[in-house]
Amino acid sequence: MQHIIALTPDHTDCLPRCLEPLTAVVVARFANNGRLLHGNLGFQRFMPTALTHSATPVDMGHFFLRPSFHDLQMVQAPIGQPVYQGILNVTDALGMCRSLIGAVHRQNDELMLVAEYDVAEMERLNAQVIELNLELAEVERTLARTNRALQANEERLKQLSTTDPLTGLANRRQLMYFLSQAWQRSRRFASTFSLIMADIDFFKKINDQYGHPQGDVVLKAVTAQMQAMVRKVDLVARFGGEEFVIVLQEVDLHAAVELAQRLRQAVSELTFDGLPSGVTCSYGVAQMHPDEDIEQLLKHADLALYDAKRNGRNRVSTEQSQ
Ligand code: GH3
Ligand code: MG
Ligand code: MG
Repeated sequence: MQHIIALTPDHTDCLPRCLEPLTAVVVARFANNGRLLHGNLGFQRFMPTALTHSATPVDMGHFFLRPSFHDLQMVQAPIGQPVYQGILNVTDALGMCRSLIGAVHRQNDELMLVAEYDVAEMERLNAQVIELNLELAEVERTLARTNRALQANEERLKQLSTTDPLTGLANRRQLMYFLSQAWQRSRRFASTFSLIMADIDFFKKINDQYGHPQGDVVLKAVTAQMQAMVRKVDLVARFGGEEFVIVLQEVDLHAAVELAQRLRQAVSELTFDGLPSGVTCSYGVAQMHPDEDIEQLLKHADLALYDAKRNGRNRVSTEQSQ
């Protein structure tokens, strides 16, 4: 509810002080040259910069928009009556037009303003703020959803770029990254690691005789078997079509050969629906040497694998056995 405070100039001395805490009420006095003589807290909320302690008087004539300061000075009101009563359009500190409801009195040459903020406008602004806050909350929720989706996409992309889609194994790119990490670690901690390079024997025949989908089934089963037999810290990667590399951290050649033999046995015991017999793999094993690089290590494993193939397949060879 809007309430107009009617004042007579006689009350002006005591009112500013008692109205001070009501910051929704504006009380201010102006000299006839527009200089601000007094402004209560409510006025300061409008014009925080008006009440400076500078020696230069602040001209507040521009504060009144309608009626203007000049208009208010011109009005001849009966004694005890305000020179103006009703809605006043004034400028706030940001230069925005705001509405006050109240009265302007003249005492001698001074003008005294006593008014309330436009409560309806304040409520409207309040409602706008609430609405904006709700919108903001919705925007924040949408943003959080988008971020989650982005994160999921990123993870998916990362998975796609590091994983072989058929077997779910690490792809060649991931293998090379893993190897470089293992290489650096082994250098730093003077530790070692080994590689097993495995290749399915006569795999082309399986494709040719039983079809490519059947070949895929074999690929998945063989790699799942390998994956199941290594530790979490090791890596099984698809190196090429039916060729895989297993990186065994902190494992020397001897232990790697033992594992390769166990893998060889386990793979050869796998059975497949639609295949009269199982499959076998050949294995080449190599251990890293501190004075060689990753390419050389892969080369050693590859040569060992070639040796296993040459010597009849379904066997394990090492770089030393060549
Ligand atoms: P070897 O014992 O000498 O290794 O003989 P191999 O027949 O296994 O080797 P070869 O290199 O002659 O043939 C490999 C075959 O693997 C040829 C290729 O079509 C097949 N292959 C490669 N990738 C895939 C795949 O993702 N799915 C299927 N089904 N076959 C694949
Ligand atoms: Mg092969
Ligand atoms: Mg091959």
